[in-house]
Amino acid sequence: MIDMHCHLDLYPNFQQVIKRCEKQKIYVLSVTTTPKAWHGTKAISKNCERIKTSLGLHPQLAHERHKEIYLFDDFISDAKYVGEIGLDGSKEYKQHQKIQAGIFKHILNTTQKAGGRIMSIHSRAATDSVLDCLDQYKDAGIPILHWFTGTQSQLRTAIGIGCWFSIGPAMLATKKGKLIAQNIPKERILTETDGPFATLNKKKLMPWDISKAISQLSNLWQISTEETELILFSNFKSILRDS
Ligand code: MN
Repeated sequence: MIDMHCHLDLYPNFQQVIKRCEKQKIYVLSVTTTPKAWHGTKAISKNCERIKTSLGLHPQLAHERHKEIYLFDDFISDAKYVGEIGLDGSKEYKQHQKIQAGIFKHILNTTQKAGGRIMSIHSRAATDSVLDCLDQYKDAGIPILHWFTGTQSQLRTAIGIGCWFSIGPAMLATKKGKLIAQNIPKERILTETDGPFATLNKKKLMPWDISKAISQLSNLWQISTEETELILFSNFKSILRDS
């Protein structure tokens, strides 16, 4: 099982969560929301070879934490993964779009200069702007659009510029999410939970709930869960190889 977007440090009982991930051999990309949190979050899973911690600055925090951007630049050489980054154009955050865009472009530029990284990207209500930025910084690495909610035509653009997609149980529980997933080439799909923020039936998603995404995808693709797992694992190996 692979959880490419999880906020591990934000579970109240994260030590137990990490233990169970270890036991079940789950691969986790533990995303962070501010550069300041990166070292601390890395430390909570320091002996776990399957858990990697990415360096990020969440667009919903950009207006409050923009001063930490210099830390992003300081840490990038030690960070193998970048996320959560991106733009958020929803009602509550639209007013900060200028500062968000400045931060996002700065991050893409820094990441590009560092040779590129796998990046986990938030694009809620800002798909066009995110895709424009990614197109401007083509060598920033491999973008994974997490929980993509754009239109079919934005999806085609995203596929065209080389984006990957991480999708999870909450997204696949909606009609729209299923339709999006159906139109993404299988070889560009990875799984995620976005726990503990994302919920399913009012319960916080846990990394092991990736099993739900696997069965949802196997229904969607009309193949067995074993075949689905093989595809997802081969995708995972392929993105790591190309990064
Ligand atoms: Mn997230």
